Amino acid sequence: TGGSVWEVDCQVVGPHERLVSLYDLSERVSVAKSHADFVANASHELRTPLANVLGYVETLMNPKAGGDEGVRMRFLGTIRHEAQRMQALISDLMSLSRIEALKHEAPAGQVDMVPLAQEIAGEFRTGGEVTVKANCASAEIAGDRGQIGQVLRNLVDNAVKYGKPGGPVRVSIEAAETGWVLTEVSDEGEGIPPEHLPRVTERFYRADTSRSRAAGGTGLGLSIVKHIVERHRGRFDIDSRPGEGTTASIMLPLRERAAAE
Ligand code: ADP
Repeated sequence: TGGSVWEVDCQVVGPHERLVSLYDLSERVSVAKSHADFVANASHELRTPLANVLGYVETLMNPKAGGDEGVRMRFLGTIRHEAQRMQALISDLMSLSRIEALKHEAPAGQVDMVPLAQEIAGEFRTGGEVTVKANCASAEIAGDRGQIGQVLRNLVDNAVKYGKPGGPVRVSIEAAETGWVLTEVSDEGEGIPPEHLPRVTERFYRADTSRSRAAGGTGLGLSIVKHIVERHRGRFDIDSRPGEGTTASIMLPLRERAAAE
């Protein structure tokens, strides 16, 4: 029955009566399985760069191979790159676990999306330009500035990584009368093939694994985005036209309608 798991319990409640209880454990079993898959994936992702680091260190320690300065520097560069990959992964894993731990608590604080987006756009030094356009001077939402900042940073980072090299990245903010603020991050990159699009927010899912790894991606960025946006009672969407570009959008409730006026 499509992987259903049941527990049956039978109690004697009288001389001729039995109470039979059926418990559907499918949900619990599938949560446990996805947790096990997650741990296996995370371990695998860490094991690969670690094996590379150990391999290069062994070679450098070999007195015959470690002599040439140029080779030595190249190996050290690779070791640093692999260590940075592990660092990025551990930092994303910690973010995910923090967000998970807080998921039943409403986020405290308030965030103005307009200056935050400008601040984050300014952090990126790319060949192209990261521009911010807003239809309002301020758009306040109730939420955690650090987490919302991480959402914008992850989306701009993807637009820079997978966008057209040196091409534009646009952040647009629109506060609406309806009490919502829409923030979109778009690029003019290769886009995401439609068969991958529905799965890109899954942990460790990548549309193009080698490209993501080469760009220093952990495969966790969009799942972090989705978790944070949902914790803020918002919606995350990603839309892409292969060959033309990608637009990631988040809808968040405005703190007060007045803030948009
Ligand atoms: P990663 O660390 O690999 O970038 P993400 O969770 O941020 O992980 O994104 C998942 C995958 O979605 C990426 O590996 C990439 O294949 C695809 N992706 C995300 N954003 C874009 C984009 N702007 N353009 C093209 N592909 C994208």
